[in-house]
Amino acid sequence: MPLFLVQNDITTIDVDAIVNAANESLLGGGGVDGAIHRAAGPELLRECRTLGGCKTGQAKITKGYRLPARYVIHTVGPVWRGGRSGERELLASAYRSSLELAFAYRCKTVAFPLISSGVYGYPKEQALKVAVDTIADFLSSHDMSVLLVIFGQASHIIEKERLADITVFLDGDGANACPHIPMQTGRTDESISQMLRRKIDEAGISDAQCRKRANIAPSLFSEILSGACARPSKPAVTALAIALELSWEQAGELLKKAGFSLSRSSRFDRIVEFFISRRNYHIFEINEALFVFGQEQLGG
Ligand code: ADP
Repeated sequence: MPLFLVQNDITTIDVDAIVNAANESLLGGGGVDGAIHRAAGPELLRECRTLGGCKTGQAKITKGYRLPARYVIHTVGPVWRGGRSGERELLASAYRSSLELAFAYRCKTVAFPLISSGVYGYPKEQALKVAVDTIADFLSSHDMSVLLVIFGQASHIIEKERLADITVFLDGDGANACPHIPMQTGRTDESISQMLRRKIDEAGISDAQCRKRANIAPSLFSEILSGACARPSKPAVTALAIALELSWEQAGELLKKAGFSLSRSSRFDRIVEFFISRRNYHIFEINEALFVFGQEQLGG
């Protein structure tokens, strides 16, 4: 944990490993592959020649040479052939194999491009869904931070209808917002960690489930829960409210404990409200929307 989306050129990112969307020859190509080889220098191709290629859905590792990243993990995603040729499974396998290799090399931070979504033609929205589902599943049992790098226009990654719905909601006058329900559960004497403890117990979920649903690293989660982190960030506390499936009012109450408020004049708050009002508590769907609208993402 956690997983975040970033808009960047993957060759400039300082992480333990970046992943390359390569082809089976591993001898270089266009797109992100070309950019990585140019930035890493000719030694990268020399090492790739010794690897004997790579099958679709699998991954191989090399050094990063002149890149800020220590390693490059080369994986091969499927060519899109309409979606009925096992593309989804092969794409998930490319992500999984890369993550397993990164984990075996003790990488703590890994950055992925949106594999197969360029020349290989995988529709971007669907490619993103496979990426997020597969990475989130892996992170639920491995302590690692992953960046999913979106190159170019961010709005392509989200369904058109959802983008339109959120835009209408943001431009609305608040009539479409969550109904105001007076708070009943307020306990002014409670600290944020005490309130969190109580809410997790009330929700009937384990601490680990709450942490995973909140996209929060284990160390930060224990600090918040134990009270060692006096002032967690707003994205972290909001993420916990989402993990606990709180109402808009209850989320406001939790945020207040950390010194924050929810307001209808903030874009971040309104996007979170959009999802809460629809009872959609899927943290990565919320983060996709926050990313597209240039806001901080939930988790920490
Ligand atoms: P594939 O053949 O797997 O489709 P591509 O390199 O054509 O690989 O594209 C994969 C994704 O990488 C695309 O979404 C493309 O926009 C993105 N991409 C291209 N160059 C970069 C870069 N320098 N950093 C990050 N992503 C990139």
